[in-house]
Amino acid sequence: MGKIGFTTTVPVEVILAAGLIPADLNNIFITGADPGDVVDRAETLGFPRTTCGWIKGIYLSAKEAGITDVVAVTQGDCSNTHALMELWQADGMNIMPFAYPYDRDRDLLRLQMRKLMDALGTSEEKTDKVFRELAPLRTKLKRVDEMTWKDGNVTGAENHLWLVSASDFDGDRDDFEARLDAFLKEAEKRETAPTGRPGAGLPAVRLGYIGVPPIFTDIYETAARSGAHVVYNEVQRQFSMPHDTDNLYEQYARYTYPYDVFGRIRDIKEEIKLRRIDGIIHYCQSFCFRAIEDLIVRRELKLPVLTIEGDRPGPVDARTRIRLEGFVEMLRDMK
Ligand code: SF4
Repeated sequence: MGKIGFTTTVPVEVILAAGLIPADLNNIFITGADPGDVVDRAETLGFPRTTCGWIKGIYLSAKEAGITDVVAVTQGDCSNTHALMELWQADGMNIMPFAYPYDRDRDLLRLQMRKLMDALGTSEEKTDKVFRELAPLRTKLKRVDEMTWKDGNVTGAENHLWLVSASDFDGDRDDFEARLDAFLKEAEKRETAPTGRPGAGLPAVRLGYIGVPPIFTDIYETAARSGAHVVYNEVQRQFSMPHDTDNLYEQYARYTYPYDVFGRIRDIKEEIKLRRIDGIIHYCQSFCFRAIEDLIVRRELKLPVLTIEGDRPGPVDARTRIRLEGFVEMLRDMK
């Protein structure tokens, strides 16, 4: 084992403590040379058209990256994971299941994390040491987030990229931190983020983005061109583990994404208030079970919500762009 792939955010401290390289398969897929082609080729292999693009993408991306060992999150992420791990197993790969307990049961979570430590050949002491070493890096990621919503000198796209990459630190935490330091230094010198339509002189509408990270490649740019500033990326922020705790297990118990939607909604409501958000984009992936949760999101959030759906990697389609522009226009009129 050298590189350990994983299907969604897992306790990365365990992988690092084992001296292994973390590889978020979603990041490998979407930052590859041609993710659209990967999806096409997965369909040629036999994946149904009506399967989520991320699943098709990570299946083939893992194999083509030569990854042989994968931590697959069997509870708390995706309804497709069981079939995906079976497919990888049939291909001869080594699969290690990991389950986030639905009810955040601390004992079960600790047991799962300890089983992962055993599977990867590390200990609780070593993992805890890495947890403490990562604290300054996680504080810097919090600063990126704060500069997005408070200071206005980090764009929604930059916020997305830094926070979503915190699941595996792009495979090299030292290099990641050095690049992050340089970014913060440069961004601190900026006056404001390019949030509005150039020359339009309109106040930026403040948007929140909730749901899984987008398969669209330019959604933040599209929002910015419409005069909106995305000041909150819900799940990406959760990937960066912004929770104030000095306990490794508690960090993963407070992580909202893998548990019930109500914990996520509590977090979203707090951030809407703190960040003075005007409207929410709820991103749903085509064929994803999480789209059902849109019903609860709309019932619970007392501000305008635009639900958009993405299928394959690529730019925002014309219909979604027009809906997004209209939504921003409406929010601007409401201000
Ligand atoms: S978007 Fe939904 S269906 Fe697709 S991988 Fe994520 S959780 Fe699974």
